[in-house]
Amino acid sequence: METDVAGITSLTELEQVAKSCGRCTLGQTRTNIVFGVGNPNSDLVFIGEAPGFHEDQKGEPFVGAAGRYLDELLISVLGLTRKDIYIANVLKCRPPGNRDPQPEEIQHCRPFLNKQIELINPKVICTLGNHASRVILDKNLNISKVHGEPLEFDKHWIFPTYHPAAALYAGRIKEILIEDFKKLGEILAQDSLADPGASDPIKQMDLF
Ligand code: URA
Repeated sequence: METDVAGITSLTELEQVAKSCGRCTLGQTRTNIVFGVGNPNSDLVFIGEAPGFHEDQKGEPFVGAAGRYLDELLISVLGLTRKDIYIANVLKCRPPGNRDPQPEEIQHCRPFLNKQIELINPKVICTLGNHASRVILDKNLNISKVHGEPLEFDKHWIFPTYHPAAALYAGRIKEILIEDFKKLGEILAQDSLADPGASDPIKQMDLF
């Protein structure tokens, strides 16, 4: 049975439900739930993969080296801090040893992410890396092929880009991330960004 979040109307209430979640085995090994932080009214939501060691300890997403780089990109390219945006992960609990999320873990955790998106209702969802992009776009894509272009999916604009952790090991990815964040800034600044699903949508998902 799926986690029932249908009647929930606030992020605070949703977080309380997540805190008592024991639907998958990650509930037995987590130190803290890493629910999400930031501005619940933001136009921009970032979605990562899963908490790592530091996030599990602190109960907050992206607080390690990748998070520090994300903060740097936010301020230097977009002039934003994490108080201006909202950040969450596909999984709310740390997979032991930072292994990849398993399909059943994603399935159990998905209602929390879906509800977060529904309650925040952002203009743009920026997915960080292969895992988050695949989960949100429900497609076995490769981030190298789809990054940096907004895609219309399920009534939202999705903007896939590389995971900031990838930039820590490859300078080339750093340059790509900076360019992608510039495009993200342009998209956010567009008043005319079409309401996804409102008018004869171009089926961009067919392009990859
Ligand atoms: N990587 C993620 O995908 N999420 C975090 O919260 C930290 C690192």
